[in-house]
Amino acid sequence: MPLRYLNGFDIDKLKKETCDVIVIGSGVAGLYSAINLDRDLKVLIISKETLAENNSYLAQGGIAAAVAEGDMPEYHFEDTIKAGAGACDEAAVKVLVQQAPRDIEMLCSIGTNFDRNPDGTLTTTREGGHRRFRIVHALGDATGREVFDSLLRECKKRSNISILENCFAVDIVSDPKGCKGLIVKIEGEYRYIASKALILASGGVGQVYKNTTNAAVITGDGMAMAYRAGAELTNMEFVQFHPTAMYSTAAYENKFLISEAVRGEGGILRNTEGKRFMPEYHEMAEVAPRDIVARAIFTEMRKTGSPFVYLDVTHKDPEFIKTRFPNIYKHCLKEGIDITKEYIPVCPVQHYFMGGIRTDLWGQTNIKGLYACGEAANTGVHGANRLASNSLLEGLVYGRRCAEKINSTVAEVNLEQPEIQYKRENISAADTSGIRESIKNLMNDHAGIERNGKDMSMALRKVNEYIALLEKDSLDSPEDMETLNIAYIASLILKGAIRRKTSIGSHYRID
Ligand SMILES: Cc1cc2nc3c(=O)[nH]c(=O)nc-3n(C[C@H](O)[C@H](O)[C@H](O)COP(=O)(O)OP(=O)(O)OC[C@H]3O[C@@H](n4cnc5c(N)ncnc54)[C@H](O)[C@@H]3O)c2cc1C
Repeated sequence: MPLRYLNGFDIDKLKKETCDVIVIGSGVAGLYSAINLDRDLKVLIISKETLAENNSYLAQGGIAAAVAEGDMPEYHFEDTIKAGAGACDEAAVKVLVQQAPRDIEMLCSIGTNFDRNPDGTLTTTREGGHRRFRIVHALGDATGREVFDSLLRECKKRSNISILENCFAVDIVSDPKGCKGLIVKIEGEYRYIASKALILASGGVGQVYKNTTNAAVITGDGMAMAYRAGAELTNMEFVQFHPTAMYSTAAYENKFLISEAVRGEGGILRNTEGKRFMPEYHEMAEVAPRDIVARAIFTEMRKTGSPFVYLDVTHKDPEFIKTRFPNIYKHCLKEGIDITKEYIPVCPVQHYFMGGIRTDLWGQTNIKGLYACGEAANTGVHGANRLASNSLLEGLVYGRRCAEKINSTVAEVNLEQPEIQYKRENISAADTSGIRESIKNLMNDHAGIERNGKDMSMALRKVNEYIALLEKDSLDSPEDMETLNIAYIASLILKGAIRRKTSIGSHYRID
């Protein structure tokens, strides 16, 4: 059993605030759920650091939706189910694909400036696992930034929405009747925020791994606090590795992504001997589902003894590359590679998390009043492998659905102040330095693209030892709290992966 709360407290002695709905997270899922909440509800959005520090802001490729001529939600459904390797919840996928065009329309109505064709229709591109051009995008390859900016603009127009930046959500406060609010740490002090409903839109788990494309704030806090509060977490073994992060030896907190849309627009993967290899692995070649491309690259890297393969767009019109992928072009140039003339070194790294807090089709968890959406949630839409560009979409569709459920039920809820005093026993100053790095390395080495039970069991033993040490330590700084959150999530990923003996989608057992 994990600690119930990270820190001891007496709720009566904490500074208090109240609101109707707390939203943890200022990514797509959090901001979009907030603007779909009724305007007479007092809503508070909380963001760990500055508002744009999140994965949504980094998203490049786009959002999948059957909006192009000749496409249909049924085709989008089929591709999603196929990519998910048979592990998707079909009812959840149906909701996702059928409601996708409606949420794209809503984004357009609040001013999201998607790229358009000369006739005014939305431009669509193709990515891995999609049989059709179905990905709408903005600013070429900066879809996330444009969607985030437009959602934030909209939130700021709403007088019922307040935003707290640099506010660390520590723990969900609950009693047997359900969720009552949240403990946060802000400006060095702990506060209790009472609420009628709480939406966890706190993102994924990327920083549990050494090599990830995820923002530095993505440490699995929301999932870990839900776990401590007794929420059900499922499919924790399903971790997605993006095939093409730019290979670099620099010690960045996150690796730079080369969007799948680059392959969708004709980019070719070559091994270090210059040979194109994807047609040998799958009939869809470079645009096969992510797990297949990531494993093929991994195999080629092993064969050639190189820590990377190449992505080649030198055969494409340089002007097209510069306008279609302006940020990727500029970033690579800064790293010394002109992608219109040279191959890009790429390798697979952790990118997305399919598991998470189990919800129903309205984002409700097993704890009354606690909702989850976006990457923190496991609605069942991704199965064992997410289809490209379905995650921003999931944040939109299910973020809105959380809001709609709350709108229709919140009037029945009373704000209650629970009588909670929590004491942590046996606190000692443990030496926890180096634990975070060690866990990240263990996960990279043993819970990656290829897995075997013996190594994972060894990694789990070590992670459990770290958890025991951290649970004794006083966890006052957000960094220390994050480290224990990382440790809990690592142990849940490992336990799930050890339990699942057969390979499926992103979970590939070599034993
Ligand atoms: C480089 C990159 C490119 C991507 N490209 C695409 C793409 O093209 N299309 C696509 O569909 N998907 C893409 N993805 C995936 C997609 O961006 C994410 O899955 C999605 O944005 C998640 O949105 P979210 O709102 O759930 O979480 P996020 O956008 O990650 O937001 C999480 C929020 O939770 C807050 N938070 C977390 N913990 C705490 C805490 N303890 N206290 C307070 N606040 C907290 C953070 O501050 C942050 O605001 C990409 C991901 C990356 C990393």
